[in-house]
Amino acid sequence: MIPEVEKIWMDGKLVDWKDAKVHVLTHALHYGSGVFEGIRAYENGHGPAVFRLTDHIKRLFRSADIYKMKIPFSLKEMVEGTKDVVRANKLNSCYIRPIAFRGYGGMGLYPEGIPVQVSIAAWPWGAYLGEDGIKNGVRVKISSFRRNDPNSIPPAAKACGQYLNSILAKIEVVSAGYDEAVLLNSHGNVADGSGENIFIVKNGVIHTPPTCAGALDGITRDAIITIAKDKGYEVIERDLVRSDLYLADEVFFTGTAAEIVPIKEVDERPIGPPGEITKALQDTFFKAIKGKEEKYKSWLEQV
Ligand code: PMP
Repeated sequence: MIPEVEKIWMDGKLVDWKDAKVHVLTHALHYGSGVFEGIRAYENGHGPAVFRLTDHIKRLFRSADIYKMKIPFSLKEMVEGTKDVVRANKLNSCYIRPIAFRGYGGMGLYPEGIPVQVSIAAWPWGAYLGEDGIKNGVRVKISSFRRNDPNSIPPAAKACGQYLNSILAKIEVVSAGYDEAVLLNSHGNVADGSGENIFIVKNGVIHTPPTCAGALDGITRDAIITIAKDKGYEVIERDLVRSDLYLADEVFFTGTAAEIVPIKEVDERPIGPPGEITKALQDTFFKAIKGKEEKYKSWLEQV
C-alpha cells in the first residue's frame, strides 16, 4: 500500500490526496499513453533536497517528445510543482512520481485533441529491493521476456505502457523465487533490469550496456558513471551477453527506486558478496545524496 499523505499536485494545483482522481475513460488508462518519472528527495541537514530534479524533469519532457505529447507546463513549473508537493506534505525523504498522460476527452488511437493531464505525487518509500538487498545483494534471473525493441516501443522513453514489458519479466522471476529480473534485448544482449540499469565489474574495469542496447538513460546510472570516473575507474559502455554477468567479479543495479544494489547471484551462478568497487560506489553515492560530498552538491536541489 502507498502510505497516504495530504496533497497531490494536479494540473497546476495542490488537491487533497483523496480527490486526485481521473475518469475511467482516461486515454492513458486504456492505452498506456503517458510518461512518468521516479525521483527521490533526501534529508541533508537543511531539510529535503531533490536528487537531480531538473535532470528528471528534462527526461520527462524528452519522453513526452517521443510520443508527440505536449506537456502543458514549463520545465520550471514542473520543478516548482515538485518542490511544492514535498513541502506541502512536510516530507523529508520521499519518492516522487510526476506523470503526464493523455486524459479524458477522446478514445481513438490518434490522440489529437485529447488534453494532456499532469500530476505529481510524493510519499515515503523505502528501499525498492529491500534494505537487505542494498547491504547483502539480490538474486536475479534473466527473464524469458525481451526488452521492448527501439522500433516497437522506444526504451529511451519512460512511458507508462512500456512497463507492461517490465511487469511480465518481474512476475516471471519473482514467481520463480528471485528478487529481480534482467532483460535481454531482441539481439540477445543485456539491456536492463525491470526498473534498474545494470553494471558489471571485471578485472577492475566497469562495464554497462549502452542506451542503444535498450538501457534507459538512467540518472543514477549517469551519477555512478561520474563517481566511478572521478575515482579513477575506467567505465566502458558496451554490449554484454549473459555469460558476461555469470563471469563478472561484481554485478550491481542502479536506479532511483532501487538506489545501488549489489547482485549476488545471476541464474543460480553465484557472483559472491558485494564487492569492493560496488561498496565504494555505494558509499560515495549514499553520501552524495545526503549532501555529504562537496563535489556532488550541485546534484541536490533544495526544497
Ligand atoms: N531502467 C529502467 C527500465 C527503469 O525503469 C529505471 C527507473 N527509472 C532505470 C533503469 C533507472 O533509471 P533512474 O536511475 O533514472 O531511476
